Amino acid sequence: VITVIAGGVGAARFLRGLMAVVDPGDITAIVNVGDDVVLHGLHVSPDLDTVTYTLAGAIDPERGWGLAEESWQAMAMVRRYGGIDWFNLGDRDLGTHLYRTHRLGQGATLAEVTAEIVRSWDLALRVLPASNDPIETRVTLRDADDISQNDALPAGTEINFQEYFVKRHHAVPVSAVRFVGAEHSFPAPGVLEAIESADTVVIAPSNPLVSIAPVLAVPGVREAIVARRRNVVAVSPIIAGTALKGPADRMLTELGHEASVLGVARLYRELAATLMVDHADAANAAGIHHEGMHPVLVRSIMSTPQRAASLALATISAAHRPEPTSAPHPTVTDR
Ligand code: GDP
Ligand code: CA
Repeated sequence: VITVIAGGVGAARFLRGLMAVVDPGDITAIVNVGDDVVLHGLHVSPDLDTVTYTLAGAIDPERGWGLAEESWQAMAMVRRYGGIDWFNLGDRDLGTHLYRTHRLGQGATLAEVTAEIVRSWDLALRVLPASNDPIETRVTLRDADDISQNDALPAGTEINFQEYFVKRHHAVPVSAVRFVGAEHSFPAPGVLEAIESADTVVIAPSNPLVSIAPVLAVPGVREAIVARRRNVVAVSPIIAGTALKGPADRMLTELGHEASVLGVARLYRELAATLMVDHADAANAAGIHHEGMHPVLVRSIMSTPQRAASLALATISAAHRPEPTSAPHPTVTDR
């Protein structure tokens, strides 16, 4: 049984690989909800939907988010009225948000609705939101942002994560991030049990600061993972100092961390015994070991489903290696 702590795109690719090498019925994904946002009165859960759509083979391959074969008629109408048009919601995708919002209005929990949506795509894995309670990731702008002249913001302004990520194209430096509501939230039913009972817990190659951190911020989750540290493997989302997509590398630097696998190791060392890093970072293996983690070198760019499957296989195999030795020699797989 494998439990994966997940954000959006990076996690979804990893999970697709994992589903090819492990019975999907034995996989639980615990997914970030800090990105969730209410738009047009609709509850949008970007990371949950990215995971579901990717695993269903329904994700748009070019955009990497939203559904394939999408049309944009509804957004065109919203734009006509001068409504919120910076967060694109396709017509098919809107159906998901309509359904979710309706079910939440009926009193269903986010976990219940998520299970219904995942089942409807014939997926056998279990997808759990980190929490049923609202958690909002907010970031503080380090500099003034006058990217759009009619919407300038002074330095120090705190904005919603989607306003930063989507509306402002994560182009403006940030000085702080917090997860509003997290401290009073409860893990969704099954979340702590999935961590406690898993053979292996994987921290997916997701943004550590805005995808994984909000999951860890749900009371009890971090402690549950720390208690399983020996069986926890993290996959670095940073390769040779850069993020393959998105602002993870810049955010690490802006928030006082190092944009490298060493920076990732320092964030995860208390949580995971093992860190999967790309061969490109072989020179950092001794440094990772020095941080107290066992480095495993792999080809970690999931450019094809086959590559994602080999990374997933190497990751779960790394969790079952023998007692760690003190020698700073990394394990090397699939060279
Ligand atoms: P988001 O919520 O959709 O922004 O996505 P995530 O937080 O799950 O993932 C973003 C991170 O995934 C970025 O830091 C990327 O570097 C990382 N990522 C994406 N594809 C890959 C890949 O093929 N291999 C690895 N190691 N990391 C990846
Ligand atoms: Ca996300």
